[in-house]
Amino acid sequence: MITDNMKAGGAECVCPECKNHVDLSRYPNLAAGMVIECDHCGMTLLVKGVENGSVQTEIVDEGK
Ligand SMILES: [Zn+2]
Repeated sequence: MITDNMKAGGAECVCPECKNHVDLSRYPNLAAGMVIECDHCGMTLLVKGVENGSVQTEIVDEGK
């Protein structure tokens, strides 16, 4: 059974670091290549793309 759980406003993102949902309301123009920040752990995440209503991200190692 397929669960169609699309929320108003579209995609959601789970932080790969802390597994919490990142608040995407701060990023109304979310697109691949953008850098967002997890509001739970502060991790910087690079948006790789959006698939099936889920935002794919990669942890950015700032390395500074
Ligand atoms: Zn996080």
